[in-house]
Amino acid sequence: MNIDHFRCAVCGGAVGPREVRQPLFRCPGCGACYRSNYRQAMRWSLLLTLALWLGVTLVAALLSEAWPRVLLLSLELGLISSLFLGMLIHRLLLRVRPER
Ligand SMILES: [Zn+2]
Repeated sequence: MNIDHFRCAVCGGAVGPREVRQPLFRCPGCGACYRSNYRQAMRWSLLLTLALWLGVTLVAALLSEAWPRVLLLSLELGLISSLFLGMLIHRLLLRVRPER
């Protein structure tokens, strides 16, 4: 889900990304109430990405004889790829539901 272009399910009006990041927000057009798990999804994506990055780095360092090179590669490429993976996981976990 892309919250930068969130549209209200009731009236179709655009809701700003700052509002959608709040746990509970209202559509400025019709007042429909929504619940967002933005912060929980952010926490889970950070934890999953960090665990995966550390796990891959540890396994590669243990299996390779050139572990200093593995650590250097992990810091250079691993951090960048982890950043993109974390953004992808966050988008997959993000849910915005109408509040009843
Ligand atoms: Zn609306």
